[in-house]
Parts: sequence; structure tokens; C-alpha cells
Amino acid sequence: MTRDVVTTDGAAYADEPWGTRARALMPGGVSSPVRSFRGVGGEPFFVERAEGPYLLDVGGRRLIDLVMSYGPLILGHAPAPVVAAATRAVAHGLSFGAPTPLEVLLAERITGAMPAVEKLRFVNSGTEATMSALRVARAATGRRLVVKFSGCYHGHHDSLLIRAGSGAATLGVPDSAGVPAELAALTVSVPYNDTDALARLFHDQGSDIAAVIVEPVAGNMGTVLPAPGFLEALRALTEAAGALLVFDEVMTGFRVGWGGVQGWRGVTPDLTCLAKVIGAGMPVGAYGGRRDLMSLVAPEGPVYQAGTLSGNPVAMAAGLAQLDAIGGPTFYDDLSERTAALANGLEALAGRHHVAAVAPHVGGMMTLFFAERAPRDMAETEATDRERFRRFFHGMLAKGVFWPPSPFETAFVSHAHTPDIIDRVLAAADRVLAGL
Ligand SMILES: *Cc1c(COP(=O)(O)O)cnc(C)c1O
Repeated sequence: MTRDVVTTDGAAYADEPWGTRARALMPGGVSSPVRSFRGVGGEPFFVERAEGPYLLDVGGRRLIDLVMSYGPLILGHAPAPVVAAATRAVAHGLSFGAPTPLEVLLAERITGAMPAVEKLRFVNSGTEATMSALRVARAATGRRLVVKFSGCYHGHHDSLLIRAGSGAATLGVPDSAGVPAELAALTVSVPYNDTDALARLFHDQGSDIAAVIVEPVAGNMGTVLPAPGFLEALRALTEAAGALLVFDEVMTGFRVGWGGVQGWRGVTPDLTCLAKVIGAGMPVGAYGGRRDLMSLVAPEGPVYQAGTLSGNPVAMAAGLAQLDAIGGPTFYDDLSERTAALANGLEALAGRHHVAAVAPHVGGMMTLFFAERAPRDMAETEATDRERFRRFFHGMLAKGVFWPPSPFETAFVSHAHTPDIIDRVLAAADRVLAGL
């Protein structure tokens, strides 16, 4: 990798105190909190560039990356077809305020892979997608309450920054200062995988519930798989009560398989939220679903939602190129095999070193939990050994592997993580786990 594109003087660039300068100007020195390393301690490195499975920091250190921008980069960093398509688009103009064929083409790829998405709207982030999907759900049902599952993250807008206390369903309490209690009270949280709690909630308040929103495989408390029957129960309960089922597939869409979790598990939501992989690292989101529901969105219907840069041509070109490079369902056989090799390898090594650890995984997602068995909800992910995770994280970083800097994040495997790269991650983990 050459260093002349980003900086003309690599040495001076490396010697700058970027962390200090950043912290003086931006909260925590970052543009998104998890990047600050608060979950593991220490200070983040600053990135100069990336290629394939590698990140190169400003000091010239090359790291194997398992963060992959938290999910979008399923082909690895800077894959040639995506870079070429985005570069072509840039040369043709960065934004128009008028529709382009690229939006139509990307929408056709998405609806072709996900039959439940009959019609969609492009936005700029996953947060915008879930926020807008809930607005549609409330408009369609004329109801106010939204149900989510504790530990599921759906973005940072006011209605969804809520989690439950442990145990039974709890009325929403905001996770963030600045969210009015009156607004938080419209969101009810239930433990993930707790079908009984959800059934009780529907029994008591079903006629007030506009929608249930769920990560159909949870990735934002670490990877937690839906128990058999859980998604089916969500479908049945919402349908019986006249509420909508919203799958937040921002992380899982085109990540666990070509058709998302809905294609894999055969449960059809009313609305689906996407982002991450469909944008290939550019700011993109989308929400879509049943034709009648999406026809409620302006200008066809009364639900207002807009965006100056939505459907941005550079972002559309990048996403389209990435989906075309993935090509279809068979891509995921190979990806799943690599993820399984990493997950199973880590579990075997942990066992050899007498460290209790499990690595639930699916498609290109996995988490290493320091626990006896795979967690089923947030109470169980929070009960895992976080101090051990902290030492694992720093041990891996010292050996040249960038693992997500929180015990509650998902690690992402890409097409660029060849078996040789996986072996190198496992070799590092062997030595780190031996010292835990
Ligand atoms: C990342 C994520 C979001 C938020 O997407 P942004 O683009 O960061 O706003 C929402 N839902 C899920 C499941 C996510 O993983």
C-alpha cells in the first residue's frame, strides 16, 4: 500500500497528536461513541486508509480488521468494483436533487432479493430508515405504541433509544438524556426471545400497538440468534392484533444471506429497514415493504419524509456495484464457511486454554462471548465476562487484529477474510486466550 494519496508526508502525518486534537473539538474525539474505546479502555488509533481485510493506521501499523465499518463492507475494504463505480459516479456529479436511473436499479436489486419489499424509499442512514418505518406504521394503524426488544438497537432517534429493565415488559425509560419521558412512554420494551412476555403485552395492550420492531438476528448486544419459533410468534401476535411487524435488517440485510433473515427463516414482515451492506460504506438506508403501506409515503400519501441527499448517486452506484459483485445467494455459502471457521476455531482454542467462551454466528456475523453458553437476551449478554473481553480485545490489538471494541458488538467477516487471514486471526487468538 502506498501512502501518497492521503498525505504527502507520511511521517509528519503519523507524528500529529490526532487524539488530542480530536478530543478538543469533538465529544470524545469521535463522530460516533463506540469508536472511542470506552467499552474496553484506552484510546483509539487513527486510520489512514484500508485495503481488503486490512486497516492501516496513521503510524503505519497494519491491522487485520474485524470491525469492517460495523457491517457495510462485506467485500472487504475498497473492493475494486465498488471503487470503480463510485469513482465514475463522482466524476458525473455528486448530487442532483432529481431522480437517477441508479436509484431504480438499486431498488430493483433489493426488491428482487427480498420479495416482501414491494416498494421502498431510500434515506441516508439506518436511523432514518427505522424512524420513518415507525411513522408509516403509526399512520397505517392509527395507533401510538411501539414495541421493541431490550438489547436491540435501531438507531439514535428519540422513540427507539429505549431498553427494558430485566425480566418482564417495562414501560419505556429513555436510555439517553434529552428524550422526554412522555415520548419514551410510547415505546415498550420486552426481553429478546421472550415470546410469553410479548403475548402478555399484546393481551393487555394489543389494540394500542402500532408495530413491533425487531432485529430478527440481534447484532447490537453481540450476535444473539432468535430462538426457534420466536419470529413466527411475532408474526402471529402482530397479525392477530392488527399491528405491523417491522424487521430491522439494517445489519442483517445482505449480511446473513441474499434475502436477509426473512429469506432465511421464512417469516415475512410488513416493513423492512435496510442500510449498511446496501450502501457499501456510503451513507445509505432504505425502508420498504407492502405496497399499500409504502403508498402512504409522500408524495403518494400523507406520511411526510424527505431528504436532500437521499438516493445520492455516488452512494447508489457504490451499493449497486456491491450487490452486483455479491451476485446472489451462493456468495453466502463461502462467507458462512469462513465465519464458521473463525467461530468454531475460537471456541476450540478457548476450550484448550480452559476459558469459557462461545461464538454464536450466522452469515458474516459473529460474537465471542466469555460465557458458558450462547446468550439469549440482553440480561445474559450483560452477564458475560466483560473484564476478560477487555483483555482479549487489547491482546488481539497488540497482535495486529482489530476486534470490535465492546463485548456487545458483532464482529464482521468479509469476502476479503480469506482462510489464510482467518488462520492468522486464530493464531493470534491462541496466544491471547492462553494468557487469559
Ligand atoms: C447500525 C444499525 C442501525 C443504525 O444505522 P445508522 O446508519 O448507524 O443510523 C439501526 N439498526 C440496526 C439493526 C443497526 O445495526
